[in-house]
Amino acid sequence: MCISEIPYKCPVAPLEFVFLAEAYFTKKGIREKVKITYVTPMSGAFTKPVATKMLSALLEEKNISIIPEFYLESVDNDNKKILSYDGQEVPFDILTIVPVNMGNEMVKRSGLGDDMNYAKTDKYTLQSKDFENIFVIGDAANLPTSKAGSVAHFAAEILTENFLSAIEGRPMKAKFDGHANCYIETGYGKGALIDFNYDTEPLPGTFPLLGSDLLVCLKILR
Ligand SMILES: Cc1cc2nc3c(=O)[nH]c(=O)nc-3n(C[C@H](O)[C@H](O)[C@H](O)COP(=O)(O)OP(=O)(O)OC[C@H]3O[C@@H](n4cnc5c(N)ncnc54)[C@H](O)[C@@H]3O)c2cc1C
Repeated sequence: MCISEIPYKCPVAPLEFVFLAEAYFTKKGIREKVKITYVTPMSGAFTKPVATKMLSALLEEKNISIIPEFYLESVDNDNKKILSYDGQEVPFDILTIVPVNMGNEMVKRSGLGDDMNYAKTDKYTLQSKDFENIFVIGDAANLPTSKAGSVAHFAAEILTENFLSAIEGRPMKAKFDGHANCYIETGYGKGALIDFNYDTEPLPGTFPLLGSDLLVCLKILR
């Protein structure tokens, strides 16, 4: 498995791929005949220390090798190897690549985009930086958080509130915190959860007691 460049959709999806492949080969009884390698441009299994430690340990436990800081330059399909810009080579029999992720050409043509064709977006209000009558949600936004469905889910509430304020001429008070969470399938019917936002690094479980969680807890305690 090789991640060609960041950002890409769903930061844990390639990890899930190798975890599920590992479980599949084990189930088939051929695990010891297959070497699984996770090749990434990041400095480790994930972006920040706590989740990297947890996910690296899981890769190690499952005997999946990791090659960090690998910036894919080319695929030599004749000789079955991938090459990095700094001259590293990794051989393969079967290669799965996460391709370069970019925004749509249409975003570029519209004048909304940055140099990756993602729409330039205020990370708190979710308003376009260039057009005050446009708000942005989902992977198309150039927010400094994950390209994940969960981000769009959490952003939707903020966007709705600010959008209504904008069209009614009121100040935009809702502030998006970059909240993302990722459920990670780790094989054998098991999974893990990491939770993070702009300020809190990805941590296992659910990090802050969010308003709704707190309400639920209080209801249960009563
Ligand atoms: C393998 C994988 C696993 C994932 N797992 C998770 C997960 O477990 N949890 C999670 O939260 N997220 C996950 N994600 C990420 C999640 O799928 C995306 O973040 C989410 O789909 C983004 O939604 P979106 O509506 O912004 O964009 P998209 O889902 O990409 O939708 C964009 C739509 O616009 C259409 N479109 C594009 N150009 C045009 C055009 N010019 N005109 C008209 N239509 C156009 C496209 O066809 C597409 O239907 C995963 C992603 C992948 C690839």
